[in-house]
Amino acid sequence: METRLEEDRSLKFSPSKLGVYRNCPRRYRYRYVDKISRTRKTPETVVGTAVHAAFEELYALVAGGKVPDLGLIQGVYDREFEAGWDESVVEKDARFARGDWRKVGAGCVELYYGAHHPFSEDRTVAVEKRVGFPILVDGHEYRIEGFVDRLALAPDGAFEIVDYKTAKSLPNQEHADADWQLALYELAVRREWPDAKAVRLKWHYVRHGKTLVSIRDDAARARLLADAGALISEIKRDHAFEPRPGPLCDWCEYRDLCPVFAHPVKVAALPPAERRHDDGVRLVEAYAEIEERRKRLKDELKAVEAEREKAESDIADWAESAGVAVVAGARAQASVTIRDETLLPTKTGEAERHAALEDEVRRTPLWADVARLDGHALLEGLKARRWTGELLALAESLVARYGRRARKRSVRLKRRADPDDQS
Ligand code: SF4
Repeated sequence: METRLEEDRSLKFSPSKLGVYRNCPRRYRYRYVDKISRTRKTPETVVGTAVHAAFEELYALVAGGKVPDLGLIQGVYDREFEAGWDESVVEKDARFARGDWRKVGAGCVELYYGAHHPFSEDRTVAVEKRVGFPILVDGHEYRIEGFVDRLALAPDGAFEIVDYKTAKSLPNQEHADADWQLALYELAVRREWPDAKAVRLKWHYVRHGKTLVSIRDDAARARLLADAGALISEIKRDHAFEPRPGPLCDWCEYRDLCPVFAHPVKVAALPPAERRHDDGVRLVEAYAEIEERRKRLKDELKAVEAEREKAESDIADWAESAGVAVVAGARAQASVTIRDETLLPTKTGEAERHAALEDEVRRTPLWADVARLDGHALLEGLKARRWTGELLALAESLVARYGRRARKRSVRLKRRADPDDQS
C-alpha cells in the first residue's frame, strides 16, 4: 500500500462528509484532503436532484400561500430532469432508458403530491435550509453543517426535519433510528431554537409513498455528539487513509486512482491480445471457468435431489400400499420408515409464526435451555454498533476476550457484460 502522509485540514464537516470517511477513508482523502473534484452522475442522482428541485418549488409556493397544481410541479421536475441528464450520466443497467428514469421521478412527484395535497398538514419554516453547530474536538472547534430538505412546524408544535428519498430500497425502522444525517441536523435545529420541545426526523420514501419517523431522546443525542466528535478526532489523526473496499466501490468516482483497483486499471490499458498473457487475468479466467463448472454441477445436483425426493416418495407410497417396510430391488433394497413428527415454524419457512414462538419461549424459563449463542449476530451487532452504553461495552469486552483474529480471504467474481471492457 501507498504510504504517502496526508492530513485533513477541514474545519467543517457535513453528515455526508463524515459518512464518506466511515465508509472509506481513502475516498475521503481523494475528495476532501487531496480535493480532487469529481462528480459521478447516475440516473438515480439525476432523478433525485430533479425530484428535490420540484419539492423545493412546491413548498416555496405553499409557504407563500399558493398551492400549485400538479402540472406545474411536474413541469419543474421535467425541466430539471432534462437539464440534469447529459452525456456524463453513467448508466449501469441497459434495461432502463432515459425515458424510463424520467417516469420513475415523475411517479414519485405524483405519488407525493396526491398523498399530501393541499399541503396543510404542517407549516413550512424553510426549504433547503443550511443548519449547523460548533463542535469541540481535542481542544479545537469545528462545525458540522448541512442542508435540510425542508424544516416544518407540525400542528402539535414539534419541529420536523424532512428529507426526501428517491431510493429504490425502503429501509426499516431500525435503519431510520440509526441514521446520523437528520439526527445531526436536529442538534443544529435545537441550538437555533432552544425552546424546541419536540423534534421529529422524517423521511419520505417517495418512490414507495412511505414515511419513516424517528425521535431521539437526550441520551441518544448525547451519544451522537460524542460519536461525531470521536469520528472527527479519528479523521484528524489519520495520515494513511487506508482504502476500505466494499459494495460502495461500484459507485466510487476515484477507482482509477485507488490502489485497490490498480490491476483492472492497468489491464484496461493493455491491448486485448496482451491482456490474456497477464498473470492476474489468467488466474481470474481459470477461476471463472471453475465457477461456471461449479454452477453447472450445482444445477445438476438440484435436479438430482428433486428426482431423489420423487423416487423416495414413490417407494414410500408403494410400500404403504403393499403393507411392507422393505422393498427389494435388483441391486439393492430400500427400507421404509414411516413416523409422525412435529415440525416447528422456521425463520425462513414461516417467519411470523417463528417470531411468535420465539417471543413466547423467551418469556419462559425454557429459554435458558433452548437458546443458543448466535456468534454471527454478536459480531454483526458490534460492527453495526447496534447497542450503546453498557451493552456496547459488554459486547466489545466479550468479543475482545473470546474472539481471535484470523485472516480470512475471500474471492468474489463479478461478471462483466463485455469481456473486453476492463474498466
Ligand atoms: S474504490 Fe473503493 S476502496 Fe478505493 S477509494 Fe473508492 S470506495 Fe475506497
